Amino acid sequence: MKLDRREFLEWSAVAAGTAASTGLSATEHGSKPLERQGAPKRVLILGAGLAGLAAGFELTRAGHDVTILEARQRPGGRVLTIRQPFADGLHAEAGAMWVPATHDWTRKYLRLFHLPLGGDNELRGSMVRCVLGHRVVVPPSEKTHWPLLLTPEERRLGLPGMRWKYVQSAARKIGNPTKPGWPAQALRKYDQMSFAQFLRSEGASAAAVALLSLEEHWWGDGPDQVSALLVLRNQALYPYGSPWFTILGGSDRLPKAFASRLGKRIRYGAEVVRIEQDSRQARVVIRRGANAETLAADRVICTLPFSVLKNIEVRPSFTPGKQKAIQELPYTSVSRVFLQSKERFWRQQKLTGFAMTDLPIMDIFNSTFNQRGRRGILATYTCGPQARYIARLHPEERIEFALEQTSAIFPEARENFEVGASVCWDLEPFSRGDYCWFRPGQMFSLGPEIARSEGRIHFAGEHTSAWPAWMQGALASGYRAAQEVNEAAG
Ligand SMILES: Cc1cc2nc3c(=O)[nH]c(=O)nc-3n(C[C@H](O)[C@H](O)[C@H](O)COP(=O)(O)OP(=O)(O)OC[C@H]3O[C@@H](n4cnc5c(N)ncnc54)[C@H](O)[C@@H]3O)c2cc1C
Repeated sequence: MKLDRREFLEWSAVAAGTAASTGLSATEHGSKPLERQGAPKRVLILGAGLAGLAAGFELTRAGHDVTILEARQRPGGRVLTIRQPFADGLHAEAGAMWVPATHDWTRKYLRLFHLPLGGDNELRGSMVRCVLGHRVVVPPSEKTHWPLLLTPEERRLGLPGMRWKYVQSAARKIGNPTKPGWPAQALRKYDQMSFAQFLRSEGASAAAVALLSLEEHWWGDGPDQVSALLVLRNQALYPYGSPWFTILGGSDRLPKAFASRLGKRIRYGAEVVRIEQDSRQARVVIRRGANAETLAADRVICTLPFSVLKNIEVRPSFTPGKQKAIQELPYTSVSRVFLQSKERFWRQQKLTGFAMTDLPIMDIFNSTFNQRGRRGILATYTCGPQARYIARLHPEERIEFALEQTSAIFPEARENFEVGASVCWDLEPFSRGDYCWFRPGQMFSLGPEIARSEGRIHFAGEHTSAWPAWMQGALASGYRAAQEVNEAAG
């Protein structure tokens, strides 16, 4: 199979247009503010992450009476830019960092708030991949010799061609994942196997499976455990090679922009401990310090991750299908360690400072590639069982572990190290994990239940969307839930 750049660009445009051709398109529909249907409603929104903020913003614009209840003292949830203990005003992202070009919802709100994107051009140096014991420097063209036991055809195709042959050719045939009714029954076969099994079933050699797994090892407990259909959906909406951008000045500028417009409608330090409803109203009990308070509303939008919601009392109980989804939806464990470096030594070697590895530490990100300065920050990105191992370490030990592992990829890391920090998302009481994922079979068994409303309770959040693990999913779901509430009778 010959890699055709033009075909790839066409496919990227198709993927971008996929969202634009549906009722959930930011470009066609979401850019329009909602028009209020009927009398203003009292709405309680649980959580001031991007889903809750987008829902609150849209409903407020439509004239509804909105209160957002947020347990933390800040907006943004899993969008968390950290600025301490770094020098020279540098920052790093503990949560969301990338905005792919195809993410029209994210870009729509960034445009609305005049928040600039930057960065893609600076990523065009070489990156390091470490697989099956080999450290390989991969140039931007990705044309390289892989010292692996690939088949002659795989060797000829190279990494971009293998992606096409084994992943993208199937991803382009799965239909439009943002359309109601997706996935079609014919796709059940992909949900029943893991991504690694899928690659093998497509004829990939063991070495090709190892190489392609590097790019998808951030889902849950890894390519041997994750539903192939989840990976194919992500690839359909965000194909390999899409340009990547970051929000200049830090990702937290987006939730802060929403929060400044919502003002006192957000109540911080308000931890939801119970949700109730009857035929007339919904009620939410919050804990503020030692005090409990009950608030009533016509409608509730719950954006809490299911990993948190599963420990919150609900009266009367949700339907059995919803309860099962809340209890069983898995969340990816992610631990991040940040290493401030006194020099950006990787530049002298014409490296980007990014690495994907099959070492226990997994990936390394250059967190400061679009920030000026002599110093830089390398951040490790570890998922699944290894992330849980890091979370059990003392914070000092996490830094030592990350330094030791990073030095295997970038030997100069230790002599340049100045100061470190870590964030383990499993330990965050109001996240209890990172983003949701699906084991084989769960996209069909749990998927249809996740976003479905229960009486006066509506659901939003990345986990309820076609773009889990992305800001795009949180924002699109916030708009969708706001639309549901706007159109609901009373
Ligand atoms: C490490 C990491 C890397 C990521 N990388 C990217 C990326 O590169 N690009 C990208 O687009 N996305 C990325 N994401 C995903 C993105 O951050 C999320 O999809 C998105 O922020 C989720 O928003 P949300 O509103 O659904 O949930 P959340 O942000 O989790 O919001 C839920 C809110 O509810 C609050 N809450 C929880 N419990 C309670 C309670 N009991 N009472 C009241 N409030 C409560 C929380 O404090 C939180 O503010 C990443 C996430 C992580 C963690």
